[in-house]
Amino acid sequence: MSLTDKRRRQKVEGQRRWRAKPENRAKETEWQRRPEARAKKVERARLPENRAKGIERNRRLRAAVLNHYGNECARCGTTENLEIDHINEDGAQHRERVWGGNALYQWLVTHNFETDYELQTLCHSCNMKKAAAARKALR
Ligand SMILES: [Zn+2]
Repeated sequence: MSLTDKRRRQKVEGQRRWRAKPENRAKETEWQRRPEARAKKVERARLPENRAKGIERNRRLRAAVLNHYGNECARCGTTENLEIDHINEDGAQHRERVWGGNALYQWLVTHNFETDYELQTLCHSCNMKKAAAARKALR
């Protein structure tokens, strides 16, 4: 067995153990359990008759999330171009686990905003400045 195979097996085994715990089972999304169901859903959502519904659903989701974290930027107070910011810059990791973007909003609503990630509302401009400062601090 090659080293890569061994690592892969360890990873799969680690994931299996993580899933086996009931407290983690609830954290997992339906899509992680059934990727083929996700592909079918994406296909259905692309149909012209379903697109408007999807846009409306995403608008409602976003509104629910902003209502929870605040309808203004935590830094400058603007109510324009708001985004959800990961305070500890762990957004990429979070998005990887929940398949990103609107799925992140859906995940938050489904889990009643109970998450290990610290989140806040920022405007796009403040979010970019914060990300740039974080990158600079890493150098
Ligand atoms: Zn701002």
